[in-house]
Amino acid sequence: MTIEAATLEPVSRGPVFDDLEIGEIAMNLDDLEPWDVIEWAYDTFGRQAGIVTALQVDGMVTLDIAYEIAPDDVRVLTVDTGRLPQATHDFIDRVRERYPRASVEVLLPDHRDVEAMVQRSGVNLFRKSVPLRFVCCHVRKVRPLTRALRDLDAWFTALRRDQWASRAAIRKVELDHDHGGLVKINALADWAKEEVWQYVEDNDVPIHPLYAAGYTSIGCEPCSRPIEPGEDDRAGRWWWEEDAPKECGIHCPIDTGNFEKEAEQILVQLENRTEARV
Ligand code: SF4
Repeated sequence: MTIEAATLEPVSRGPVFDDLEIGEIAMNLDDLEPWDVIEWAYDTFGRQAGIVTALQVDGMVTLDIAYEIAPDDVRVLTVDTGRLPQATHDFIDRVRERYPRASVEVLLPDHRDVEAMVQRSGVNLFRKSVPLRFVCCHVRKVRPLTRALRDLDAWFTALRRDQWASRAAIRKVELDHDHGGLVKINALADWAKEEVWQYVEDNDVPIHPLYAAGYTSIGCEPCSRPIEPGEDDRAGRWWWEEDAPKECGIHCPIDTGNFEKEAEQILVQLENRTEARV
């Protein structure tokens, strides 16, 4: 069993592709630059494509390219987990100012889920065990995003192949079977970190202020820290954990031996508790 985002039937669906078709499209797009991939996406899906981002540098580059191509179609979806640094809230305002024609949608977790989780396991449950950290990410981040994805036909991610082992095989366009079969667009898949930062410099893209403080991956305040020299870029996320993937579960089901079984059981208990109170 794996912790998967709930598979939801789409509310509306424009262009629908099967695995064969999306495989052919991916082959055609794989050698193209991010702007070509993003242009294809807006030509195909228009406003039914959303940029899902925590407003880190890769997401900001995706947004900047998208805004150049189709400013009135740009929808940015970002989650306020309730545990974000104040700097991220400030940065959201800055993004709105810089890209005024884009719509920036801030998604919130269901307060009943959060209440049930906190009452059961405490507000800092993520420090207690890996399964409880998965549960926290699932309730605060994965569920709100999964709900939002239900209304889209395609979503842009800022994933790159060199970020983490679990991302090494991503294609520029994929079918996302974990979220109802919508299209997942990884336009920056083959870019290296240096290319991303070069784009930022060349195009004066605003970046999250915590990069200047030594952070290389920025999420919730208690689960992100600056990295030390020589550490991997994602080493500052959930740094106290051993042998656990540095993923929240939105991009891939978390499958880590026995951790996920315990987390799944806790989620079922939370679900029952929430339902009993409605
Ligand atoms: Fe919870 Fe930390 Fe995940 Fe944020 S990053 S949702 S605080 S476990």
